[in-house]
Amino acid sequence: MTHVPTLQSFIAGRWIGRQGAQVLRSAIDGHGVARTHEEAPDFAEATDFARRRGLPALMAMDFQQRAARLKALGKYLMERKEELYAISQHTGATRADSWIDIEGGAGTLFAYASMGTRELPSGNLIHEGPAMPLGKQNQFAGSHILVPRGGLAVHINAFNFPVWGMLEKFAPSFLAGMPCIVKPATATSYVAEAAVRILQESGLLPEGSLQLVIGGTGDLLDRLQGQDVVTFTGSADTAARLRANANLIRHSIPFNAEADSLNCAILAPDVTPDHEEFELFVREVAREMTVKAGQKCTAIRRIIVPENRLDAVAERLSARLAKVVVGDPSKEGVKMGALASHAQLEDVAARVDALLASSELIHGARDGFALLGDNVAEGAFFAPTLLKSCDPHAEGGAHDIEAFGPVSTLMGYADLDEAVALAARGKGSLVSTLVTRDPGVAARVVPAVAAWHGRVHVLDSEAAKESTGHGSPLPQLKHGGPGRAGGGEELGSIRAVKHYLQRSAVQGSPSMLSAITGEYVRGARVIETEVHPFRRHFEELKIGESLLTHRRTVTEADLVNFGCLSGDHFYMHFDEIAAKESQFGKRIAHGYFVLSAAAGLFVSPGVGPVLANYGLDTLRFVGPVGIGDTIRARLTCKRKIDQGKKSPSGKGQGVVAWDVEVTNQNDELVASYDILTLVEKREG
Ligand code: NDP
Repeated sequence: MTHVPTLQSFIAGRWIGRQGAQVLRSAIDGHGVARTHEEAPDFAEATDFARRRGLPALMAMDFQQRAARLKALGKYLMERKEELYAISQHTGATRADSWIDIEGGAGTLFAYASMGTRELPSGNLIHEGPAMPLGKQNQFAGSHILVPRGGLAVHINAFNFPVWGMLEKFAPSFLAGMPCIVKPATATSYVAEAAVRILQESGLLPEGSLQLVIGGTGDLLDRLQGQDVVTFTGSADTAARLRANANLIRHSIPFNAEADSLNCAILAPDVTPDHEEFELFVREVAREMTVKAGQKCTAIRRIIVPENRLDAVAERLSARLAKVVVGDPSKEGVKMGALASHAQLEDVAARVDALLASSELIHGARDGFALLGDNVAEGAFFAPTLLKSCDPHAEGGAHDIEAFGPVSTLMGYADLDEAVALAARGKGSLVSTLVTRDPGVAARVVPAVAAWHGRVHVLDSEAAKESTGHGSPLPQLKHGGPGRAGGGEELGSIRAVKHYLQRSAVQGSPSMLSAITGEYVRGARVIETEVHPFRRHFEELKIGESLLTHRRTVTEADLVNFGCLSGDHFYMHFDEIAAKESQFGKRIAHGYFVLSAAAGLFVSPGVGPVLANYGLDTLRFVGPVGIGDTIRARLTCKRKIDQGKKSPSGKGQGVVAWDVEVTNQNDELVASYDILTLVEKREG
């Protein structure tokens, strides 16, 4: 008998588990791939280690440094990806399925690294500004900050994407400064364990930032505290059970769930079988039924089509499914592998039986279908199965039963209102696809469908050229759905990081808010010295360092010159009569002239550490500037971000945002904006 290795948990900096327990079998040929371990982890030690070692190690870094670390982890994982591909096939996954899991997981690390670098500050506090004055004199203001929660994150994952599912939760938690204790689903935990070993062996993980639990979670949830969070992916039943844990309820510990989802695809009535969109619809449904053998939280379970298209869709879809070669994913030509385990096979078979009580079989074979590969008789294979609902409005059918495999149910509708009503019968789903050629249909259907879905994908021939597909949750977009889908949210760019942070409102004087947020807040005390702020290197610049410029009176010659230079001869600047009749009652200067003139007032023209101006944020022309008005600018260092970047010549540089207020002779604000610059560091 071949040796079956024992998996280990990684707890408190040690790999534990010697004694083999449950055998985890290959989904392809049934041989033992790995065993879970017998020894129960000490969850007091695990949580303590996360708090005492993981938290300080993560807090010793800031958002920018953790973002850089995620990128390095992603690169390391990519270097060793083939090790993961080699074991991933035992889960029944084809190379394409494993690509989603493994490279999709690394891609999520890269995506969060890059979003973190671009969007998060240096330090460990996010200012969700702008601050708003709460008094008439602007001596009392309010704003919001987001800070690390000072707790740990427990991630409980599903079996279908052991790498991606882990990393899509780990990346934002890590960025937010939360140590993670990850519990993969047992069936495919050998892939998750291999991924965690690789990440640990990179030497890039701060101590205690990632622990792994193979097997049960014991009393882990009972040991959590108010600063901790739990995120879960799996069945709605387990979510409901875990959500009700007395300790979680007592301490209001956030519980983010991603559960069963009866996603749908809707074919709009404007699409006929002759349109390209008809084929796109069929292709999308077939793909979602067969990728990962339909074991995707986003898979299309309900196919909602006009009644007069039922036969055409059934025919084309069956033809496509008939071409799907099922078998050992390592064999050339295999398009669909096995379900992840025999338990899953039994579960899917039982649910198809239940679905057949209210639907008929259009395509698929329960037994004896063709399989490609040797020794596959013991595999957990299930044929692509298309059903047609006998009564789309009946209880207990496809709107209620999720067969987590290559199974989908076709149903007809009479009009768009009925299509929307059927979509809602899923009671909350992760995603729906609408295939239409008509923007009017999209505008009508999407808002109604969005109330029940976390994401809506609209497909036509134009979008198809670049569409990432119905089934791909993207790091940039929200993943999660209301109701039955768990009511949680994951991904969605920096929003996901914010799920793991604590938001607080802060009130105080602008100077206090500046000190707290590390960002200049208007009205705060400024620092004025003899040295022009543009002559300071990145390290020397202080938040609040400010320059009040000399003044400049705007003349008619300015307007004429600027108009000629730019070619902008808009009537408000050049037509005395029209301008008089306007709300301003006079000719006014171009807004862009005011911007340019302000730059002329505040720049320090000689060669210095300010390297480039790369943009403006929050620009508003607040008041008109007429001929004879006198303007001046205040330039104040607002925010500094150190992304650890270097110039091509190897000199260090950082981002500095400057607050600019342009005022007139009455001290009234006429223009307001932030300027974004790159500023050189003194030290390389
Ligand atoms: P489960 O709900 O059985 O398991 C999900 C995770 O929860 C696993 O890690 C499981 O561990 C763990 N778990 C189960 N019971 C407990 C418990 N009492 N305490 C702590 N952890 C627990 O779902 P499966 O992974 O088996 O998938 C089954 C169904 O989940 C699918 O049929 C599908 O409906 C749904 N699903 C939804 C997904 C989504 O993203 N929306 C993705 C994948 C699945 P263990 O494996 O050790 O039992």
